[in-house]
Amino acid sequence: MGDQKGPRHHYDIIIVGGGPIGSYMAHRSADSGYDVLLIDRKNEIGRPMQCAGLVNIGLFSLPGMEGIKDKVKLKEIYGADIYSPSGKMLPLRGKEVKALSIDRSAFDLELLRSAARSGSEIMIGTEVISASLLSKGGGKVEIVRGKDRYTIMSDLIIGCDGPSSTIRRTMGFDIPQDTIPGVNMEIEIKCGTVPQERVGVLTGNDTAKGFFAWIVPSFGRSGLRIGLSARTGNDVKKGMEKLIGDPRLASFLSLDRLDGEDVGLISSVYGGVPMGPPSKLFKGDCILIGDSAGMAKPTSGGGIFPGMRAVDTLSMTLGDLGYRPGRTLKEFSATWKKGYGKELTKGMVLRKIIRELSDEDIDKAIGALNDRKKLRLINETGDIDQPVSLAVKLLKMDPSLLMLIPRYLPHLKGLL
Ligand SMILES: Cc1cc2nc3c(=O)[nH]c(=O)nc-3n(C[C@H](O)[C@H](O)[C@H](O)COP(=O)(O)OP(=O)(O)OC[C@H]3O[C@@H](n4cnc5c(N)ncnc54)[C@H](O)[C@@H]3O)c2cc1C
Repeated sequence: MGDQKGPRHHYDIIIVGGGPIGSYMAHRSADSGYDVLLIDRKNEIGRPMQCAGLVNIGLFSLPGMEGIKDKVKLKEIYGADIYSPSGKMLPLRGKEVKALSIDRSAFDLELLRSAARSGSEIMIGTEVISASLLSKGGGKVEIVRGKDRYTIMSDLIIGCDGPSSTIRRTMGFDIPQDTIPGVNMEIEIKCGTVPQERVGVLTGNDTAKGFFAWIVPSFGRSGLRIGLSARTGNDVKKGMEKLIGDPRLASFLSLDRLDGEDVGLISSVYGGVPMGPPSKLFKGDCILIGDSAGMAKPTSGGGIFPGMRAVDTLSMTLGDLGYRPGRTLKEFSATWKKGYGKELTKGMVLRKIIRELSDEDIDKAIGALNDRKKLRLINETGDIDQPVSLAVKLLKMDPSLLMLIPRYLPHLKGLL
């Protein structure tokens, strides 16, 4: 798929990073008639798979995504078992599919293919080492492929180059507000079958300080992804050491216990999830989208849907206005901040609260949610990508929830 000739001197748009966000951006812009170059430093797109592979079903309603769904879908997820630190379980059971467990490597590859089919030129195995703006407008990137170096110009540069973005660094953008470490393992359960229609969430400071551990069904009847994010690399390491033997994991699998020998390790990856976008997403004719801009959800660490929604908004702005220097990016940024950007800002407030919860607080909160009316509200309106709206609805239904954790009341005004 990579064009092994040298690149041209100028393109309408250069997109740096062929992860899901960059490839989707390339597909949408080339589809609207822009002359696009997509560059990625990897030789093999989609590997290693740094992901639990859980995405909101709404992702496949975005333009151009319907055809990809069946090629990447592993499991349809209707609900979740949320475990408190002491082992209480909140059973969430939706009537409709809320999320999909996907083959993330195939997903990235399918998106790259759709970028190519729309007419984007693609260079893989090619590293962008810097980006800068030109005084006459537009920008340039310096790239290296093997022994070759090139300078390429474009009217617009879009940095989709992930958590350690070169575009962000060399263009002098602010970094996201927080980056949390995470680890994910693909395993095979040798002594039983895995629930196919729900995920598991394990909370508690001993398990995943300030965040949570996940259990996601993957391949066949026995494939499972387990992992966690926590405040520091050390917390992640400690949590992972205990995860396999955690009785709540055994309970999710309807087993009495689970030992190391009951599990086969298929792969394991470690990565960072940046969250809390910088106040400025663009400078001149250069913009950041996706993990490079800290667009992952602060409450779950999921970055695919928010990044792709931002691509959708930018693509619509590019389609409506064309690319007008000084206007299109400003318009996009304002629209995004008023829309999904607001959910992310509020998510950072919710995250501040979640980070500080003691095990006792979490137990109390999970216990209080476990009643018929609240479960019905969660099951009917819960959306893994809109946790703030759900939190507000729950507080309106039962204001006494506020009193469970009174010391967090001052933070809550940021949510309303
Ligand atoms: C352990 C873990 C579990 C996760 N689980 C989920 C989940 O279940 N659901 C979910 O929605 N999200 C999840 N995420 C987050 C998700 O993986 C990211 O939000 C998503 O990959 C962001 O996509 P992106 O395209 O912005 O960046 P990336 O996927 O990081 O892609 C960036 C691309 O840019 C390329 N690149 C980087 N620098 C350069 C350069 N200088 N030159 C050329 N190319 C470059 C890289 O090779 C890469 O291909 C998880 C993250 C972690 C760490």
